[in-house]
Amino acid sequence: MLLIITTTRRPATNLGWLLHKHPGKCQSFELPFGKAHVCYPEATEERCTAALILDIDPVGLVRIQGGPSGQNWSLEQYVNDRPYVASSFLSVAISRVFGTAISGICKGKQEVADAALPLQVKLAAVPCRGGEAFLRALFEPLGYTVAAHRHTLDEKFPEWGESSYYTVELAGTVRLSDLLSHLYVLIPVLDDDKHYWVGEAEVEKLLRHGEGWLADHPAKEQIARRYLMHRHNLTREALARLADEDAPDPEAEVRSRAREEEEVEKTLNLNEQRLGAVLAALRASGARRVLDLGCGEGKLLQSLVKDKSITEVVGLDASVRALEIAQRRLKLDRLAPAVRERLKLLHGALTYRDKRLAGFDAAAVVEVIEHLDPPRLAAFERMLFEFAKPATVVLTTPNIEYNAKFENMPAGKLRHKDHRFEWTRAEFRAWAEGVAGRFGYSVRFLPVGTEDPTLGAPTQMAVFSRS
Ligand code: SAH
Repeated sequence: MLLIITTTRRPATNLGWLLHKHPGKCQSFELPFGKAHVCYPEATEERCTAALILDIDPVGLVRIQGGPSGQNWSLEQYVNDRPYVASSFLSVAISRVFGTAISGICKGKQEVADAALPLQVKLAAVPCRGGEAFLRALFEPLGYTVAAHRHTLDEKFPEWGESSYYTVELAGTVRLSDLLSHLYVLIPVLDDDKHYWVGEAEVEKLLRHGEGWLADHPAKEQIARRYLMHRHNLTREALARLADEDAPDPEAEVRSRAREEEEVEKTLNLNEQRLGAVLAALRASGARRVLDLGCGEGKLLQSLVKDKSITEVVGLDASVRALEIAQRRLKLDRLAPAVRERLKLLHGALTYRDKRLAGFDAAAVVEVIEHLDPPRLAAFERMLFEFAKPATVVLTTPNIEYNAKFENMPAGKLRHKDHRFEWTRAEFRAWAEGVAGRFGYSVRFLPVGTEDPTLGAPTQMAVFSRS
């Protein structure tokens, strides 16, 4: 099975960055059902083509699906079209091999990932159940021009007539992540089949990959029905949720606001208190351009973009998965352009000097330093306080003394399995005062959460100001 993607936007070799696969190399990836290979038949400034070759192991497939002792034992298990055509296997390969590209994140070249590019796609063999008309009904509303060549069933026996297999070419000016999402969803829809059990999780996948385009697609009912393998309950749920996306239900909004107030009036949880404390410190500093380093899933970013006094927000995290969730939470691709311009997500590490982080008024580093290996702390300190050097840094970390108050927490345990350390108030103070002294900052400390008279508050916060 072969998928080819070409761009002519110069420098066309940016395609390699976007796909996170070097144009000079041929790479192979093991998948549960075979191997995927990525290579570039062509990679010049003017034109770059990436090929994804899927080499499905037909015998392995039989093994996965239960083998001769399983149900439906027949020759069909061995003799079928699955190794050769675009199917749900290709969707899995796209998401595994081009996972970062499909999420729309591109380290160092985010502006290329965000831009609509002239892209051409060729799929060697697509089973189009529903014919060319259905193929066009799927892709043309998304802005592609479609060319399809239908294959005869067997060239040696033309009298057997046409097959349902097409070589498909698409051309459009779209973001690469959108193109990959379109293919991810629509290939199994054309095939009208899936190689795995379709359950509730498929609704989530459909809505996630369909975000921003499926709700308005004229063929959304057929897409949902086929994607969910004609399971009526799932299809109904998916369509209802898509309709929700289309037109927010005002009553539901009022209900959820009331619920929110109720929650707030109960006891504020620590997360919210921390968020509130960090926001207050940032606002008090008068910052207009703000970094959120180790932004995670983007809760703080969400509050920052709502604040009109803040003109630019950049979230950085090392975890692509966290950034994907942040992107979804922030509905980045559906924000008005004016709002969207104020917000950027970057994939990067806190321990490397990064030009993109210079020139900001303030940085928030919320519950992050305890994830760094102690020998890497010095690199983090230089990156932030020497190179990025924002006027204000708001930094929080757990207070280990307070752990004694958590029920069910054995003595000596840390709050999270990825924490490399947790500090007492004295340790945090010593570290922060050392940093402030070395890099020309002053620092003050604030407790976050209800304070215990002897153990202190659950979270400790330091606010650094450049002298
Ligand atoms: N600030 C967020 C997330 C805290 S969890 C919040 O308060 O909810 C810690 C985050 O730091 C994770 O998302 C993790 O991916 C990120 N992180 C850990 N080490 C990092 C590093 N070296 N560089 C960048 N991000 C890192």
